Amino acid sequence: MQNAKPHAALLASPGMGHLIPVLELGKRLVTYHGFHVTLFVVATDVSTTQSLLEEPYPNLNVVNLPLVDISGLIDPTATIVTKIIVMMRETLPSLRSAILALKSPPTALIVDLFGTEAFAVAEELNMLKYVFDTSTAWFLAITIYVPTIDKSVEDEHIIQKQPLRIPGCKSVPFDDTLGAFLDRNDQTFIEFKRIGIEMPMADGILMNTWEDLEPTTIGALRDFQMLGRVAKVPVYPIGPLARPVGPSVPRNHVLNWLQKQPNESVIYVSFGSGGTLSSDQMTELAWGLELSKQRFIWVVRPPIDNDASGAFFNLADGSEGAQKFLPEGFLARTREVGLVVPMWAPQVEILAHPSTGGFLSHCGWNSTLESIINGVPMIAWPLYAEQNMNAAMLTEELGVAVRPKTSASERVVSRAEIEMLVRKIMEDEEGFEIRKRVKELKYSGEKALRSKGGSSYNSLSQIAKHCEHSLH
Ligand code: UDP
Repeated sequence: MQNAKPHAALLASPGMGHLIPVLELGKRLVTYHGFHVTLFVVATDVSTTQSLLEEPYPNLNVVNLPLVDISGLIDPTATIVTKIIVMMRETLPSLRSAILALKSPPTALIVDLFGTEAFAVAEELNMLKYVFDTSTAWFLAITIYVPTIDKSVEDEHIIQKQPLRIPGCKSVPFDDTLGAFLDRNDQTFIEFKRIGIEMPMADGILMNTWEDLEPTTIGALRDFQMLGRVAKVPVYPIGPLARPVGPSVPRNHVLNWLQKQPNESVIYVSFGSGGTLSSDQMTELAWGLELSKQRFIWVVRPPIDNDASGAFFNLADGSEGAQKFLPEGFLARTREVGLVVPMWAPQVEILAHPSTGGFLSHCGWNSTLESIINGVPMIAWPLYAEQNMNAAMLTEELGVAVRPKTSASERVVSRAEIEMLVRKIMEDEEGFEIRKRVKELKYSGEKALRSKGGSSYNSLSQIAKHCEHSLH
């Protein structure tokens, strides 16, 4: 067995948000660390994963685990997070059979945050077990800390609306805390608490961040007493893992339009793979963009409060189909400077394009990393999940974004404020400083991934060593 390659089984929960970083992890394990990887995807068409791969990776195989019907097991009004967790739970028997059916038994199982219950399968089959937090170290810290949270801290946070204190880390401002963490009886909170208990049982925790991005929080995670944990578990920052521009990007009208715009002149507006706004907020955003007089690309989806809209709004309608959700005459008035794209845009290619100079983003961690690795400053407009924490970190800690004065998810942000924020990052002196900082961060991320001494590269090498060790 001396020269055998380590074989890692990766398990990605449903949704692009997890699939993208887990797939990037698989690619790095294969390309730089001599692994053979089997990637298990749940309820995702294998062809979707293959299309994300862009080019063949001979030692990376994708296996689809069948969709399980969970409708009888869960309240239909449960959150999407709860639904994903239940689906992952019900998939465990097929994961077990699929691993047993592999020609060579995997050395390690690496799951994302929603797959920690698969640790039982790893233990039974004598595999090392790792969890991959596809988000920040700060989010990991809160997840691990929640089960041990002190009652007085909890009361102070919830009743007195104080920041949530996490030992050794920056406190989470009350308004930026995950909604589920405010209700101890909430199903999502209960699942998170379980995940927080299970995570430290891993052989290691991988995070999609890097040492220089979050040094204090990563330090706190390594200081076991600070987080009040019982088990010692190594943490490995391995990021920034983000989807690169593919080798064969088809030219489309969005990229053709971008090509004609001046350097760093366009603000790209998008709320992730599924984010939507209210009708009132869309109106204000349209006016804010128009009043700012900046060039823009805006990915428009039907507003959340217009249920009939989905039926008559699709890609084939083109931008004209979006006019019904926008102020009268908006498309005609902004035709020279703006491009409205219905539903979906080639985001990675847009952010990597030299004409793009800003990103109004919902702060999903993939979008955030794609912005950072391309040196694009942001307007942070979080909608749900841990996006408020990401926005707080980007704005107050890293200084690479600006954001509306109070949480955009709780009120309608006015056109005047939007105009001001857009101008700030696109043309003000303050925007110039923000741009400088995000470019520094881009280089810091590149450095972390370098195979000569990069901290994230070294982290994955350590994991590779453990896996090789357990082969002997
Ligand atoms: N994305 C895209 N085009 C779009 C919207 C999203 O390519 O119009 C991609 C984006 O590049 C990112 C992913 O979808 O890789 C969204 O992930 P993120 O973590 O930012 O947010 P989520 O969708 O999970 O809320």
